[in-house]
Amino acid sequence: MTIKEQVQTYREELLEKLGKLVSINSARAESTSDAPFGEGPKEALKAALQMLDDDGFRTVNLDNYAGYAEIGSGEQLIGIIGHLDIVPAAKEDGWDTDPFEMVRKGDTLYGRGVSDDKGAVVATMIALKVLRDLNVPLTKRVRLIMGTNEESGSRCLKYYVEKEGHVDYGFTPDGNFPGVYGEKGMIAARYFSKETRILDIQGGTAGNIVCGKCTAVIPGKCYSSKKLADFFNNNNIEYSIEQGEETVTITVFGKAAHASTPELGVNAISYLLVGLREAGFQDPFVEFYCSHIGLNTNGDGLGCKLSDNYGELTLNCGIIHMQDGVIEGTIDIRFPVTMTSKQVMRAMQERLDDEGGYVEIRGGGEPLFFSPDSPLVSNLLDAYRIVTGDMETMPMTIGGGTYAKGIHNTIAFGCAFPNRDYRIHNTNEFVDIDELLMQAEIYVHAILNLMRI
Ligand SMILES: [Zn+2]
Repeated sequence: MTIKEQVQTYREELLEKLGKLVSINSARAESTSDAPFGEGPKEALKAALQMLDDDGFRTVNLDNYAGYAEIGSGEQLIGIIGHLDIVPAAKEDGWDTDPFEMVRKGDTLYGRGVSDDKGAVVATMIALKVLRDLNVPLTKRVRLIMGTNEESGSRCLKYYVEKEGHVDYGFTPDGNFPGVYGEKGMIAARYFSKETRILDIQGGTAGNIVCGKCTAVIPGKCYSSKKLADFFNNNNIEYSIEQGEETVTITVFGKAAHASTPELGVNAISYLLVGLREAGFQDPFVEFYCSHIGLNTNGDGLGCKLSDNYGELTLNCGIIHMQDGVIEGTIDIRFPVTMTSKQVMRAMQERLDDEGGYVEIRGGGEPLFFSPDSPLVSNLLDAYRIVTGDMETMPMTIGGGTYAKGIHNTIAFGCAFPNRDYRIHNTNEFVDIDELLMQAEIYVHAILNLMRI
């Protein structure tokens, strides 16, 4: 039997295992003495380890933070690191089906986690079984590592590394095929107003989302309403203006997008504030915002418009709010994979302060980078190519962060196939059964390839 045929024999088993894991609501909940991330994540880990145990693998539960199953022998360790926790889901959010019941329509499965990342974990379970069926000598140990806190801080992986150390070669099936060799570094910052005539301003839902709606209250009669309307209309911006007795309330509707791709969104904060300046509203804070951020998403205004061969710096302003006369907002910067946070901060140094406002840097995280032709990246790419025949799509860099930043010698590989949107973290998350089987097949080849390095 070929590896492909071998994988196919586990089709029903894959569905059964995934259905069981999807039925456990493993979103982060209150921690208890033996459930560091709540009962759900603990139950999901217990169920997954039981499946692997029943299949005859050696399993270990690391105090309900993470767990693993292992086959093979030898000094070196290959790790496949997935996660069993999920982001919250509720039928009322607009799901067509119960997110905690895996529903099959044709060849497509629906439910929270069917793709991210329970589907990937189950595909890896099948890959381990096929690997064992092949009866080839496993000269390195192969470990399926399962965390339970990836979606809210990855403390599970930190705990795992403290107890078990790093891996020699690894991939996390929680990103994209045919592999992610670079993940941008991050800098979190905040800006504050020093002086402003704005009476109130509120907008945004999260620091890592492009602001989709922003409302400001300003004194009346101090700007040109025609110029403001022209600016919004010329830029195709949806807005509303409410004229009060002495104040004006302006709301701008933008378009949300992930902070790692701010250019795909329309930032309501930025359009509102730049619009006010265009309309002649004289204000020190508005000047500060427009000159330091404005409509750019590349850090130009803050002096950090940086790029390397692998991509450009991005900047997102997610939330703005005003309290006790001071405006405060979030800045989420993702910088190129070959740079350091120090370099980026140095570039911003001169641009952090003026009479209208100032920026405070809160913290930074370094990027992840492997050469695209390193053995890890090229062997994984080869596995993807053998199974899919897709020679066009190349490994990539991303602005988001995965487990790969938390454990050495690891990159994200799968589970998303090119140009596919599985609605992860969204309503009606789905995956095709054939894609899960193809994932399993790719992982078998990937492990065999890494075994030969
Ligand atoms: Zn994930």
